[in-house]
Amino acid sequence: MTTQTASSLLARIRSGQPLLADGATGTFLMDRGLKPGDCPESFNLEHPGVLEEVARAYLEAGADIIGTNTFGGSPLRLEHYGLEARTEEINRRGVEAVKAVAGDRAFVMASCGPTGSILKPYGDTEPEVVLKAFRRQVSAQVAAGADAVCVETMTDLEEARLAVSAVRDVSASIPIFVTMTFDATRRGFYTIMGVTIPQAAAGLEAAGANVVGSNCGNGIEAMVAIAREFLAATRLPVMIQSNAGLPVATPTGVNYPETPEFMAQRVARLLDMGVAIVGGCCGTGPGHIRAFRDVIDRVARERATGGDRWRTRDRETR
Ligand SMILES: [Zn+2]
Repeated sequence: MTTQTASSLLARIRSGQPLLADGATGTFLMDRGLKPGDCPESFNLEHPGVLEEVARAYLEAGADIIGTNTFGGSPLRLEHYGLEARTEEINRRGVEAVKAVAGDRAFVMASCGPTGSILKPYGDTEPEVVLKAFRRQVSAQVAAGADAVCVETMTDLEEARLAVSAVRDVSASIPIFVTMTFDATRRGFYTIMGVTIPQAAAGLEAAGANVVGSNCGNGIEAMVAIAREFLAATRLPVMIQSNAGLPVATPTGVNYPETPEFMAQRVARLLDMGVAIVGGCCGTGPGHIRAFRDVIDRVARERATGGDRWRTRDRETR
């Protein structure tokens, strides 16, 4: 990564022009032979061409930001597959595959999921172990030229904070996005570790995240409610990557019910509210991202021609 790309990504976000991230990768990998229980990141070593195909599909769908297949690229996860020693290679190749396709047409967002280890006092993992694991993963991603790091699907605020400080240890300037996963309960939204949205927003902002928000766990309508809470709780840019609804088990496998059209209508609401980055999570594909692209372009045209009108609407929906 050059400082110029990092500052241009943050400048794009701050300009108020919404940015489009990509959708899910898992379905592509399953279509290309990934079996349940396999390590998805083994594709980075064995089938980098598939990763390029995925990136190309999202680039052609209009994504401004494309994620890497490194969600499970923590050495603490890779050790379950005997791949810990290949942590650097897996993360480097994940970034390289997207970069080869994106060139200077899209930003490369390196994904970091949870380590899978539970921190003390709930589990038996020392914070230092998690910090070192994130540093190792992110070092390889930054060295390979990632434009941003996305710490995603987090449920433990402490683990997310450790990830943010690991990224800052590695790079003083790379933009850090952090998205957490919430469940809708009768008392409101909580992560499975009991973190509320205001706690997440305040804790991540204090840790030094540049962008905060939510991914996974919910369909687009719950994400509209989650986004509203984030926007009320922080002045940082907010990112939302929604699942295509909640998974439904069918005889042929898991199905995600929300169509591109259904989701795109609600994406328009996210943009009106002031969400800075939208994209998809489980069950979304290039069709969804293309539909989001159309909405973003339409909103950008409306803002260019009738700026006062959207600002009025913005105040009303907040
Ligand atoms: Zn997901």
